[in-house]
Amino acid sequence: MNTTTKSHTKSKALYERACESLAGGVSSEFRKYSYPHPLFYKEGKGAHIIDVDDNDYLDFTLSQGPLILGHSHPTVLKRVQEASESGQLFAGQHIQELELAEKLQELIPSAEMMRFCLSGSESDHTAIRLARAVTKKPKILRFEGHYHGWFDNVAYGIGAPSEEAMGSRENPNILPWTEGLPADGAKECMLLPWNDLELVEKTVAAHKHELAAIITEPVMCNNGCIMPKEGFLEGLREICDRHGILLIFDEVITGFRLSLGGAQTLFNVTPDLSIFGKAMANGYPISVIAGKKKYMQLVADGTVIHAGTINSCNPCIAAALATIEVMESDHTNEKLFRLGKRLMAGLTKIKEETGLKMLIQGPGPMFNVSFTELTEVHDLRDSMKSDKQLSSQFIQGMADEGIRIIGRGLWYISNAHTEADIDYAIDKAAIVLKNIARENSV
Ligand code: PMP
Repeated sequence: MNTTTKSHTKSKALYERACESLAGGVSSEFRKYSYPHPLFYKEGKGAHIIDVDDNDYLDFTLSQGPLILGHSHPTVLKRVQEASESGQLFAGQHIQELELAEKLQELIPSAEMMRFCLSGSESDHTAIRLARAVTKKPKILRFEGHYHGWFDNVAYGIGAPSEEAMGSRENPNILPWTEGLPADGAKECMLLPWNDLELVEKTVAAHKHELAAIITEPVMCNNGCIMPKEGFLEGLREICDRHGILLIFDEVITGFRLSLGGAQTLFNVTPDLSIFGKAMANGYPISVIAGKKKYMQLVADGTVIHAGTINSCNPCIAAALATIEVMESDHTNEKLFRLGKRLMAGLTKIKEETGLKMLIQGPGPMFNVSFTELTEVHDLRDSMKSDKQLSSQFIQGMADEGIRIIGRGLWYISNAHTEADIDYAIDKAAIVLKNIARENSV
């Protein structure tokens, strides 16, 4: 365990106790990699989260993205309470579920028809099953470093121990993420570096007879927060149309965050199927698989099975409706871009003052900070060249200063952050980065 200037005595004791009942002391793999060890929290309010040792953090993790309005937003809580009082789950339809579906039809270009699930992983899984059924082809082309949940179909190519282990750009090794995958699972996955349209074109031309879909995050949020190159998403759309392949946008992070209609609205590229989750209900479990009617028809008529006991439970639907309503009235998207860009500009200024080799990139509502000689990063292979040790030093230094950031360098902005919060974070980053520059003799 690392050393920290804050006291985490209670958290440490609880974590040790948790390791005796919860596997690894946590309920999701990603929570294990926390500094100085997985912490226990007792309260989240607005842009702040407080741990059991009373350490107060200005929160830029937002629970890995969902809390787009901040912790415990009063309107969301009120609507969840009201919806819960009228019943939690009917194993039948309810009006708010219909209202949410109609609202999403209005907002999201590809959402002609949809089904609700509980997690992004489930919706990704549904999309892949549906693409196979529509095209009657077995394989899915995905991109190195993209994350589409933790289910078997997509548990390959998420990361790599080294660039060497990844194989060639043209024919990457299909690296499994976990033990326990089906023996032939890798054969159904094709992998390429992201943002290289020429490679996609070549690969699809050779494999179009066996490719059901191309799935991509429209912004590569999970590794470096990388923007699509000009024309890349449009190129994918055109290739898919030409070869009878479905284009799937995984908007679990970009959805609601970049615009209420997702990245597909921002970039004006409409996929065949898309998946939304995370920010959709400000922390309540709901996701949606949405798509063109001619494809979703297979779910409608039961050719492709989608199910789930807790799907569209009353409190989650109410949370989603309330979140969208507040985002519309507060002009949240505009605010996230403004605050995100202000924070990015502040960090860039410190980078210039300290001479540290850093890259601060992303659209603003989310962005990534890495330590690298590169001035542009376009795919996982590029982002792997960053200095992980300096990055950890930064994340840990910021945590010691009371600023909570996701361990891999990703920052999320919420509606609850203020300009003063942003400037406070910039001041703290200046302290931490100046220390790093001094310690590393920059
Ligand atoms: N897709 C993307 C792009 C994600 O970032 C995530 C979660 N980080 C998922 C899918 C999976 O969503 P969930 O964790 O809700 O299953």
